[in-house]
Amino acid sequence: MGRKRILVTGGAGFIGSHLCERLLKEGNDVVCMDNLFTGQKDNIRHLMDDPYFEFIRQDILEDVYVECDQIFNLACPASPIHYQYDPIKTGKTSVIGALHTLGLAKRCHARILQASTSEVYGDPEVHPQPETYRGCVNPNGVRSCYDEGKRMAETLFFDYYRQHEVDIKVIRIFNTYGPRMRSDDGRVVSNFIVQALKGEDITIYGNGRQTRSFCYVDDLVEGMVRMMESREGLTGPVNLGNPEEFTMLQLAECIIRLTNSDSKIVYMSLPQDDPLQRKPDISLAKKELDWEPHIALEQGLLKTISYFKENILMDGIGNGY
Ligand code: NAD
Ligand code: UDP
Repeated sequence: MGRKRILVTGGAGFIGSHLCERLLKEGNDVVCMDNLFTGQKDNIRHLMDDPYFEFIRQDILEDVYVECDQIFNLACPASPIHYQYDPIKTGKTSVIGALHTLGLAKRCHARILQASTSEVYGDPEVHPQPETYRGCVNPNGVRSCYDEGKRMAETLFFDYYRQHEVDIKVIRIFNTYGPRMRSDDGRVVSNFIVQALKGEDITIYGNGRQTRSFCYVDDLVEGMVRMMESREGLTGPVNLGNPEEFTMLQLAECIIRLTNSDSKIVYMSLPQDDPLQRKPDISLAKKELDWEPHIALEQGLLKTISYFKENILMDGIGNGY
């Protein structure tokens, strides 16, 4: 097949903008749809002159009319402070957004990939988390709008697959970081880097012994593209993430060292329902996609630190720059 028309919802966000870039490099026709809630025009400004790139400023809650061969559905705020800013809207974005994009996939006979999340595992009692683990999620806490919204979206994907034979692909993304994260989005990597560069206190929530596994964005995008191009019938869900696990204290110490910062570590209260541990079992992605991450944490952090050194003061929620 030659040039494909690919819709990327949430394409002006952190991961979406890297994905659009990659798909254009491969010679595709890319339509980026985004309401610029957490995404920014600056993330895609360098793509605007490409005749095969198109940006549509639209909310996924409105009907989507685009002819396309493939859809990557990423529209949804991803950082806790952004998805908790308007939790009802976050739930709607996941659920109605899934319905709209699945309806479009059905009409266009397009293949559709859902950006699901490790949050479907909640605060996991099984470690590391394989796709077969059904999770431990609070249905009515402050993170539920995101976690349960994404779980319901997965349900809709599999119902469209069974009921209408829509060609679905579901990935579960674990903590991803890299250039174009927002400095104000409250996620741990961006927070610690910005604090270290500004010489401010590094804010560890809880005792810092909780763990996460961080994947550099280029590795993730490679996995996303491989999943989209994978054999027919491979629906997933497939975990995509870096299985190297770190405590938040280790992360803080590493960022202080790499930035050569004088910042001190301070301890603050742990947010409600903050998962204690998280690490992907990526056996399925290795077997089916021949995929595994190649960028080690320090290497990825150095690239991210360079980005923040240049861009540290540019963000503001919903400003759409
Ligand atoms: P992001 O906030 O940078 O990107 C989300 C994009 O969706 C933004 O550009 C935002 O403006 C857009 N958006 C939000 N609501 C919308 C709506 N109603 N209509 C249209 N567009 C809307 O976050 P990200 O880290 O790039 O995450 C991208 C996707 O990957 C999300 O679906 C997220 O849930 C998923 N994910 C990310 C991570 C991670 O670690 N970054 C982990 C798991 C899953
Ligand atoms: N965290 C922290 N300090 C911060 C921001 C986050 O210690 O300034 C912790 C947070 O409590 C969580 C981990 O870092 O345990 C990852 O948080 P993030 O919001 O990046 O991702 P998520 O919790 O969604 O995995």
